[in-house]
Amino acid sequence: MIEVTGLSKRYGDVTAVHGMTFACAPGTVTGFLGPNGAGKSTTMRMICGMTPPTTGTATVAGTEYRKIANPARHVGALLDPSAQHGGRTGRETLALTARLIGVPPRRADAMLDMVGLAGKAARRPVRAYSLGMRQRLGIAQALLGDPSVLILDEPANGLDPEGIRWMRTLLRGFADKGGTVLLSSHLLREVEAVADRFVVVARGRVVAQGTAADLLAGR
Ligand code: ADP
Ligand code: ADP
Repeated sequence: MIEVTGLSKRYGDVTAVHGMTFACAPGTVTGFLGPNGAGKSTTMRMICGMTPPTTGTATVAGTEYRKIANPARHVGALLDPSAQHGGRTGRETLALTARLIGVPPRRADAMLDMVGLAGKAARRPVRAYSLGMRQRLGIAQALLGDPSVLILDEPANGLDPEGIRWMRTLLRGFADKGGTVLLSSHLLREVEAVADRFVVVARGRVVAQGTAADLLAGR
């Protein structure tokens, strides 16, 4: 369960996020939709404890991210694939994360395999990866701790149509096993087939939320 309550973030004169309130329930994929600059990344960064809110709260399973013990075992996040260390190989990147969060190294290899980066790709430095490969590596990293919550910021960026279908199947399976997914995009077509609910944002505010039927009926 993700709960965002009255969440705001100001950067000087810029209000990036203004009084957002929404929740994401277990077993569902929530599509977080809005144009570039709407405040999606800032909201996700606040949920993941990477930047403090100006006002309001964001919790996962009732607890602020920063107060969760070993958060990567509960929450998997893919926020900025360009932040991955370019000098390490894909396998080294995952092996390091595995050590940091205390999961067996063999799980890193299993995750590389699952995201389609086993073998040759795993031995190449991350700086030689395409954006699509970085997204796959980021998803492997997010899943490493076997979390029950996934927070993915524009994961479809750089994925080809086959990659987008692969991710859709993966996220659907994750939610169907009881997981909670918050998935952002600026493109409805990237999330409409996988999301159960939508939170639509513009200029830092939630402008609509609900199922596709709710939104179409103007509820
Ligand atoms: P989205 O993810 O929907 O594209 P962002 O959360 O990245 O939106 O950005 C929302 C607004 O906040 C934008 O106007 C952006 O320029 C601003 N913003 C985001 N991060 C910062 C920052 N670190 N400093 C100043 N302004 C920021
Ligand atoms: P793909 O067809 O595998 O998706 P792209 O067309 O995205 O590859 O990129 C072609 C090549 O450009 C990649 O093999 C990679 O070497 C390089 N490249 C693309 N995006 C990035 C990136 N974000 N960082 C580093 N190198 C990149």
